Amino acid sequence: MALADAKKEAAALNKQLKEWAEAYYTKDSPVVEDNVYDQKYNRLLELEKAYPSLVTPDSITQQVGGDVNSDLPKVEHPVPMLSMGDVFSKDELKEFDQRIQKLVGHPVAYNVELKIDGLSLSLEYQDGKLFRASTRGNGQVGEDVTANVRYIQDVPQTLPENLTTEVRGECYMGKEAFAKLNAERDEQGEATFANPRNAAAGSLRQLDPKVTKKRQLSTFIYTWINPPQAVTGQHQAIGEMAKLGFHTNENGRRLEDLEAVFAYIDEFTEKRDQLPYGIDGIVLKVDDLALQEELGATVKVPRWEIAYKFPPEEAETLVRDIEWTV
Ligand code: NAD
Repeated sequence: MALADAKKEAAALNKQLKEWAEAYYTKDSPVVEDNVYDQKYNRLLELEKAYPSLVTPDSITQQVGGDVNSDLPKVEHPVPMLSMGDVFSKDELKEFDQRIQKLVGHPVAYNVELKIDGLSLSLEYQDGKLFRASTRGNGQVGEDVTANVRYIQDVPQTLPENLTTEVRGECYMGKEAFAKLNAERDEQGEATFANPRNAAAGSLRQLDPKVTKKRQLSTFIYTWINPPQAVTGQHQAIGEMAKLGFHTNENGRRLEDLEAVFAYIDEFTEKRDQLPYGIDGIVLKVDDLALQEELGATVKVPRWEIAYKFPPEEAETLVRDIEWTV
């Protein structure tokens, strides 16, 4: 393919993807299934890999999330809230592992976690008290949702220690709460939410916290931005955050090799439907926090973690096939 053709295709993909991202992130109302978005996004990545001059700062591949143009107050994130690289096969996970081993010079253990289908949430505490909660937004600037988060039952308002600290995790709506909300909306003739992720985002990003109060939101906390020195691993960090009263997911495991990671993936691909909350993949994180620091991040994603995305479910595949044939 000639550069001019690649440039034209990349521009068209960027335009399309940005429209979809606006509907998804800003309006909480996606117009296509995730796998349709992912396929176009990956095509854009392919083009940019083949023609690096196409990688410009305004490409969607260099940006986190969407525009932050809601009426909610804005919050700057001193430590950016990034996106995450993703892969769709075990072979690509092997490549990820080889890349990590090459960079650090030895095999590493991973903390393997469920990829919760919700939206990122930052919780900041001052002297042990929750003083601010915010969304990821565009990674640098998010939205202040403190008043809304005060109505999420599993978020501690006060910690058992006088800590000034920040944790991050996922705000989600469980499957039961989602079904109930959509049934109620349907009954009242209101538009239903496309999926639990959008229901969670739409319920949290509300100007009126009383709306959030009526929706049943939950959290899983998995990142400690500034943990005490004694905390040296991701798995350990999650255990310590649980002791502070945060709701953490019990299914995370520290695994020493890829065989064990693959078995974990198989296990949760099986169990996925029985979980009371939605997951859209499995996350591998280099467990050693010092190594995470050493590996760092690109403008968009940390180098020490990757998401393995589940293949689309049948209904989603159908939507995708229709998309491609029209
Ligand atoms: P992402 O949602 O694929 O992955 C990053 C996010 O995963 C993090 O920000 C965090 O919130 C979340 N996460 C869940 N569990 C986690 C865990 N255990 N550890 C760490 N993080 C965890 O990335 P993104 O940049 O938010 O969005 C990109 C994805 O959103 C695309 O792959 C696409 O599927 C979807 N999307 C869809 C549309 C659409 O129109 N359908 C539009 C835009 C984006």
